[in-house]
Amino acid sequence: MNVKRSALPSVTGIAPASVVDAHMHVGEFPLFNVCMDADGLAETFRHYGIEAGMVFHPDNRYVRDVVEAIDGAYGLVWCNPHKAGFVEEAVELFEHPKFLGVKLHPLLDAFHPNDPALHPLIEQVVARGLPVLIHCGHPIFTLPWSIEELAVSFPEAKIILGHMGHGNIVYINGAIDVAERNTNVYLETSGMPMHTKIAEAVERAGATKVLYGSDAPFHEVGVEIRKVQVSGLSPELVARVLEKNSRLLFFGHEDATAPLSRTRR
Ligand SMILES: [Zn+2]
Repeated sequence: MNVKRSALPSVTGIAPASVVDAHMHVGEFPLFNVCMDADGLAETFRHYGIEAGMVFHPDNRYVRDVVEAIDGAYGLVWCNPHKAGFVEEAVELFEHPKFLGVKLHPLLDAFHPNDPALHPLIEQVVARGLPVLIHCGHPIFTLPWSIEELAVSFPEAKIILGHMGHGNIVYINGAIDVAERNTNVYLETSGMPMHTKIAEAVERAGATKVLYGSDAPFHEVGVEIRKVQVSGLSPELVARVLEKNSRLLFFGHEDATAPLSRTRR
């Protein structure tokens, strides 16, 4: 049955001044029965006041086309160590001005986050100061403690725990623990249901280490923004999570008036 989707919902009281979204997808995802193309992404940016969004899909060439077409869209290179030439492909895309880091999905792609096959890639991102966003919250490969093994092996690598443990309280608490004890580990909020854990993450892991993400189109952007807004953080810290921390991590500065381009090493 073909169900007509409604237009984007009203954003009254939701849309803040400026948002940088650390976690978005483009393309088709039959497993989830959702999709978002370049036009949908641009409309979402306008609707919610998203100034910049990190987007990714296993087909990096498709992502390149999208980020070249849409202002404010930036790519993370999807890297799968089972794919021949994945390091070379990533290194080539790192030269592109709109690719700002790496996305790993050890659950879907079936590898341990500290698999030695990944280490040549991590050496390349460390040399460039690029962050690595890793899906976090499902056994067996994406639990926070497995990702911590990579963070400990590469203390200079900037590792973001995507979903900060996702829907399981033990994994959410574990993700905050891992970010608290490793200065190079960051937390990203998408799909994690407890608004209060966002405030706890800021308190325990540090004010600059928690990043808003929506995981659009899997999660509704307005809901994900609202979760940060009602987390109990002060307006200043809400702005850090919604905007400034991603600006700092992906673009190397938190000045909202400066151009959005990466400060290259
Ligand atoms: Zn995602």
